[in-house]
Amino acid sequence: MTKQQVNNLLPFLPDLEKFPKDKIVGITSTIPIEIVFAAGYVPIDLNNIFICDTSPNRMVEDAELVGLPRNTCAWIKGMYSAVKKHGIRKIISVIQGDCSNNQALMEVFVSEGIETIPFAYPHSKTDTSFLRDQMEKLAASLGVSYLKAEETKKHLDWVRSSIHEIDRLTWAENVVTGEENHLWTVSTSDVMGDFEAFGELAGKFLQSVSGREPIKHVIRLGVIGIPPICEDLYPFLSSLGVHVVFNEIQRQFSMPYQSDTLVEQYSRYTYPYDIFSRLEDIQEAIHQRRIHGIIHYVQSFCHRHIQDKIIRKIIRLPILTLDCDRPGPLDGAMMTRIEAFIEMIKSLKTEPLEVIK
Ligand code: SF4
Repeated sequence: MTKQQVNNLLPFLPDLEKFPKDKIVGITSTIPIEIVFAAGYVPIDLNNIFICDTSPNRMVEDAELVGLPRNTCAWIKGMYSAVKKHGIRKIISVIQGDCSNNQALMEVFVSEGIETIPFAYPHSKTDTSFLRDQMEKLAASLGVSYLKAEETKKHLDWVRSSIHEIDRLTWAENVVTGEENHLWTVSTSDVMGDFEAFGELAGKFLQSVSGREPIKHVIRLGVIGIPPICEDLYPFLSSLGVHVVFNEIQRQFSMPYQSDTLVEQYSRYTYPYDIFSRLEDIQEAIHQRRIHGIIHYVQSFCHRHIQDKIIRKIIRLPILTLDCDRPGPLDGAMMTRIEAFIEMIKSLKTEPLEVIK
């Protein structure tokens, strides 16, 4: 990782030292963090502390050294090492609505004496009674009432609204880069364990972009799929004259829809449910954000790669499927494929591309 990349990530790395150790709860994916905060705990997304580490590749290797398979998703191995490195003793693990690798990871933690709390999304987003039941169970496990968590939602809504504005400034005003958008939205999974501090940082960022000149790139791209593990995708795209105006799953972490209750909020969140809800959201963004092409990022060894076939069938835009295994820079073959894809989009245009104002 270059010094610049480390500097870009640093503001987003939660300072675990500032929290009492027995209050930190690791999360393996986005869960209703309002419940965790309401109970007086500090949610820390294990994915974020893994990927913001100065040596994320080393963390993957460390997990392999103690027996996690080479042909398993690197996010799983990174999360394992993050727990070990930071001595995290309590974990909420998503066992339905993410992947079976996470379920197995939870079993590894159990075998090592780490307290784990399972959380399951319903199979269907319309099964709100199942979701409510899971939320109540999670609240009970953490010793808080579900209704208190609904109160906490109001504070989180305020923080989330700043991130929604950062997202809007990315595609509507073109003053926020795709990489900044990615970092802010992906960090909403745990709001760095401190929603007040996170909200303040977001407010300062919004002030800092108010006088910016709009980005003049003419190609507008969407990045869909799970957040990319590779380091330099966004700077490389920018060097090719591409403005990433949509980060699909990261935006979902920010809970982009207006909602009155936690059940409504987490049933509209598309990530844990079927691909068809995700496709509706993607199609709407393509139209609203005037997107010219899509990069579908797929993690090596992830079941979500299978959905590429459905995505290609439904979305009528150029799509590049990008597969990556470990943290680190893009390799030469990936760069060549991206360059060829962007050239292809440019050549498809019969009229000169114009900057969208
Ligand atoms: S990338 Fe896929 S396999 Fe890896 S943790 Fe996420 S859902 Fe599971």
